Amino acid sequence: MCSAFESLNIGSFWSTDADGVLTYISPGAREALAGDEPILGRPFCELFQPSDVSESHEFRGGNGQRTLPFTFAKRLRFERVIARSENRDRLWWWAISAEPQLDGQGRFNGFRGIIADVTEERQSAEENSLLAMNDPLTGLANRRHMGALLDRTVTAYAAQKRSCATMLIDLDRFKQVNDTLGHPIGDALLKVVAERLVKVIGDKEKVCRLGGDEFQVILPDVDDRGRLGDLATSIIAQVSEPYTIEGNRCLIGASVGIAVSPYDGETAQELVRNADLALYAAKHNGRGRHAFYTGELLESAEQRRQLEEDLHDALEKGQMELFFQPVVNAATNQVSGAEALIRWNHPEKGHVSPALFIPIAEESSLICKLGEWTLRTACMEAARWPAGMRVAVNVSPAQFVDEQLPRIVAHALASAGLEPERLELEITEGVFLQEGARTNQMFAALKGIGVRLALDDFGTGYSSLGYLKTAPFDKIKIDQSFVRGATGLEPRNKAIIRAIVTLAEALDMETTAEGVESFDQLDMVRETRVSHVQGYIFSRPVPARDFIGCTANGAWTITPNGPAKQRHERMTMYRNIGAVHEDHYYPAVLRNLSATGALIEGIMDVPLGEKFVLDFGEGQLVVAIVKRSRGHQQGVEFDTPLVDDGNGGLCTRQRILPHHLAAAGIPRNSKEFVTRQVAQLAAGKISMPKFSVMNKGGTITGTSSAAATAAVATDAA
Ligand code: C2E
Ligand code: MG
Ligand code: MG
Repeated sequence: MCSAFESLNIGSFWSTDADGVLTYISPGAREALAGDEPILGRPFCELFQPSDVSESHEFRGGNGQRTLPFTFAKRLRFERVIARSENRDRLWWWAISAEPQLDGQGRFNGFRGIIADVTEERQSAEENSLLAMNDPLTGLANRRHMGALLDRTVTAYAAQKRSCATMLIDLDRFKQVNDTLGHPIGDALLKVVAERLVKVIGDKEKVCRLGGDEFQVILPDVDDRGRLGDLATSIIAQVSEPYTIEGNRCLIGASVGIAVSPYDGETAQELVRNADLALYAAKHNGRGRHAFYTGELLESAEQRRQLEEDLHDALEKGQMELFFQPVVNAATNQVSGAEALIRWNHPEKGHVSPALFIPIAEESSLICKLGEWTLRTACMEAARWPAGMRVAVNVSPAQFVDEQLPRIVAHALASAGLEPERLELEITEGVFLQEGARTNQMFAALKGIGVRLALDDFGTGYSSLGYLKTAPFDKIKIDQSFVRGATGLEPRNKAIIRAIVTLAEALDMETTAEGVESFDQLDMVRETRVSHVQGYIFSRPVPARDFIGCTANGAWTITPNGPAKQRHERMTMYRNIGAVHEDHYYPAVLRNLSATGALIEGIMDVPLGEKFVLDFGEGQLVVAIVKRSRGHQQGVEFDTPLVDDGNGGLCTRQRILPHHLAAAGIPRNSKEFVTRQVAQLAAGKISMPKFSVMNKGGTITGTSSAAATAAVATDAA
């Protein structure tokens, strides 16, 4: 029977004496274990290597967690204990089972068992577990692996008061590459992106592909936001370098969101959520940027969520209204029509800007419902205007991909009894991000109905003139940002507007300059021969009844009215901060901020050379010395410069750990405190504290400038 079993090649028999010395082993296993060497008479356990503790748990099974010598010593029955041997330069893996043999008196007499070669099984299990931990395309760690690693690191570091940063990286325009050049090229591109990321970070173990075009990096013991910002900048620069994949040139970009434990989250989950909010902010601030998490991001995410909830039944509750802004012939000042602009009268928040809620509606499916209502309402209104006056309606890219759009448009026109050529649909360049064939079909269907099409916000988006050749636009609307910059500082914008107008004329399209507010802007756009103007200089958007009131007498011209010159937006800041001096905490207002210093106000008559610790909130403390002082204003210089926060703002390099803040007596809710105090100061309810008479005017006592300074020094170290 023994030899019959052995010939099946499933396993080999073996036996030992009471001392564990080998007394028999089938030929197959004998050769694998020892080759030509004599094997009988040697202790069985010595044929194997001491068990490797890192052995994968899934593979061990049974009582395999125990090492072979340990199991042997117990003299009990065992099953499938895994052991490893090395012979002829290769590794063998074995599953060993045995039954103790007893003599007539019940004494242990040795083992008799089976040994089976499980090398192959073992290898594929290893491969599987590698697969479970790695992204097969790039070979980087996968989401699961990275999640576990971050979890372990953050948990372990919390106890040791160490910090750990994580970055979420999202590629910009990857979808376009995938859609236009195909998935194999997209995959090859992702591999190169992975290589570039590993090169920047310098350690493959710290980079992971979360899936799709999203990557994550983990940076233990890094909390310096200056360094993190530099790293994010070089990641973005590296990823944005052109690629050549199988002869195709690809250009993509990247946005990066950054969060650091313990400041931005005490668990891995919280940290990743907050890095994700920062990534969202980076993308919304124009892509190709990095952003650090701040508490405000969470607040605005919460506001967004609340708005989305309220938006659901805003239409049913009659909170939406259309305003109309006249579009005026640039040469004659005659009103040729109006753009319909949606307004939301929120019961608690008052007017909510469409710039805020339209993107929210676009992220959910609400935009289609809102868009349909806008179309119907605008057509109804326009049907009451003098013949020849047009109405323009904004159509979001999300509506544009909806196959129902032509039917909805036709229906709105028919039920209002409006001629199709009196309706102009405003489309942004965003629609060209969709698949080309579908876009062209939609254009054809809409043109088939007979409506006009306008390209909105021209010059803000993807700045390719290519689609002007093929898309059947009747009008180009030049974005406000061009008009804004075209007088004064950015004379090149005027040349650009002139070029757009020339191009539009050649293609038989009209042009509208948006956002004209002042006479110098109006003169400039007239010089460039723009055909239409829309802006505050003629009229702000007005309620429907006001608009129709003006049209009552037929032809209607508006006399422009506005400032002579464009007012430059002043970049002065207005942010409430805290100022710690000795054992007082003062509310202060930040008037001006640069990397090396600030202009603050809130304390009267501070002598030069005084040292303050400024509290920008969220653990951002900086030591500052008064260099200039006049009345309630002080110019201060920082002893450590601030760093770029990636979004046009500044932040401190390091933050102070919560327990150090508490030790320095910095109030936990310092932001609310200073905001309340500043409001009271502004309302004249309290007076501004005088430096010479401390302790007056709503300061918090019990803070410690010395402890705060020490905390800045320690946490920066
Ligand atoms: P838009 O289509 O480019 O509309 C022009 C925006 O510029 C309007 O802002 C208008 O009030 C503003 N504006 C006009 N003249 C001036 C000016 O002289 N100076 C300045 N500073 N601004 C001027 P509004 O009404 O806040 O709308 C913002 C954006 O929201 C619109 O940009 C449009 O993209 C979107 N939107 C508005 N209504 C709708 C709608 O019914 N559907 C969709 N999908 N989007 C809409
Ligand atoms: Mg528009
Ligand atoms: Mg526009």
